[in-house]
Amino acid sequence: MTAGRWTTPAHEVLRVGPGFDLAELDPSATPGWSKSRSTAEERLAEQGERLSDLQERLFAEGRSGGSRAVLLVLQGLDTAGKGGIVRHVLGMVDPQGVSLRSFGVPTPEERAHDYAWRIRNALPLPGKIGVFDRSHYEDVLVVRVNELVPRAVWETRYDEINAFEAEVAASGTTLVKVALMVSQEEQKERLRERLERPEKHWKYNPGDLDVRAKWPEYREAYQAVLDRTSTELAPWYVVPADSKWYARLAVTELLLDALEELDLGWPAADFDVEAEKARLDAMP
Ligand code: AMP
Ligand code: MG
Repeated sequence: MTAGRWTTPAHEVLRVGPGFDLAELDPSATPGWSKSRSTAEERLAEQGERLSDLQERLFAEGRSGGSRAVLLVLQGLDTAGKGGIVRHVLGMVDPQGVSLRSFGVPTPEERAHDYAWRIRNALPLPGKIGVFDRSHYEDVLVVRVNELVPRAVWETRYDEINAFEAEVAASGTTLVKVALMVSQEEQKERLRERLERPEKHWKYNPGDLDVRAKWPEYREAYQAVLDRTSTELAPWYVVPADSKWYARLAVTELLLDALEELDLGWPAADFDVEAEKARLDAMP
């Protein structure tokens, strides 16, 4: 029995289509989910088991010569809950099947290359669920807002990113792009909590407030990302994230949907099972 049901599947209700307007998004809403938080948590646990099963099938396929992978791209401003998704959603599957990469301010080595270099190097190997905690999208978000490169440079990146992602998809990697959206009020609460609790100080960076001060600029930059890079092959999903329980369930459903689309079986044995049984039986 699965606890609770979506009134509309997450991959339908959260998918960014033409005309999507971030200004109309309510970050405290729980689109597609009308049940309680506790029902959502029950469902999360159950869906976690399915996620774990499908992840193992994907891993097994990769071990058996398959070329498919899944890549979860997580974007969102500070405190949006990217780390919580990693811990609570990916935390439900076998860590050996997950390859996690966080992208921060480029290192000197990264800076010596094109912005896509570090991204290409971090793409998941066959059989893996890759997770990008921030991604190439920073190169049209923070870079655009702070004018870290001239407009003429970041302007061309949307098309480059679409071409890059089409290439990634063609190589057998399913992209699941998630933008976690918190409200300004909720972000303030979460930043305050990071300041008030010593065990959260490590998550805080004084620069977070400089980013917060540019909220309208970031919203515009996110809107441009959604307008220009939500493609048929690699659509964006915008997840309202004021309710952590909702965001975690929603991302779990999106990942599950992507894995279900792969119609994963178990690899057939490349040895004679009966002969091996007979050999084993003949042994002391
Ligand atoms: P965090 O995810 O909290 O560890 O912060 C990482 C920081 O690195 C954020 O402030 C990002 O905006 C920043 N960052 C990530 N990618 C880039 C990039 N390509 N250029 C400049 N800053 C970046
Ligand atoms: Mg941070």
